[in-house]
Amino acid sequence: MIGILGGTFDPVHYGHLRLAEEMREALGLTQVRFIPAFQPPHREPPVASAHQRLAMLYLALQDNKAFTVDTREYERGGPSWMVDTCASLRASYSDRPLVLIMGMDAFNGFTRWRDWQGILARVHLAVATRPGATLTAEAAQLLAEYASSAAELKQAPAGRIVEVPIAALDISATRLRELAAQNHSTRYLLPEAVREYLLRNRLYRTNL
Ligand code: ATP
Repeated sequence: MIGILGGTFDPVHYGHLRLAEEMREALGLTQVRFIPAFQPPHREPPVASAHQRLAMLYLALQDNKAFTVDTREYERGGPSWMVDTCASLRASYSDRPLVLIMGMDAFNGFTRWRDWQGILARVHLAVATRPGATLTAEAAQLLAEYASSAAELKQAPAGRIVEVPIAALDISATRLRELAAQNHSTRYLLPEAVREYLLRNRLYRTNL
């Protein structure tokens, strides 16, 4: 079973990496594909360029064989609608089970994503608890409707939702950009190679 972690990764940090690692272990994923959005349609434009966010992901994932950078949104260009990405993944992986990983904050907005039903028709969802985030009533109802165990996910290619409790790591890209802008230390919040990249390129220093 293949995990998919979409995000802005502006920048990638240990919250993302632990999310992927805990999901890999809990669900028995053979790989997790990190897919940086070229142009995230549901939020402010990223501060770092798509190229820089991709470069930071390569640095962050370089020593883990189970984690892969998937460049399909970058190559497609334009707004990165997840339903298009899921259609492309489905074409690549025929009927293998695919699991789209997301934090609770992302899941709370899921029914506002373009053609969310089309997403669920193509992939399963795995929702992780995240510090400070609680489910909205609508999200809780959706979860209850499609709820599945980790074992059941393997029996179908798509269409189920599993909730996976993960250890709380209170790290966000927003906080990292703020720290970098104020020239404060970001050490131990993200991989050292990514931290060095930020410093070398003076990323987030001026354009917060
Ligand atoms: P920003 O602060 O810029 O909104 P972010 O840190 O939330 O960014 P994204 O790239 O937007 O990072 O997130 C990608 C995915 O990772 C989302 O599903 C999000 O819920 C999840 N995620 C981000 N940080 C954490 C964390 N500390 N723990 C668990 N999940 C996380």
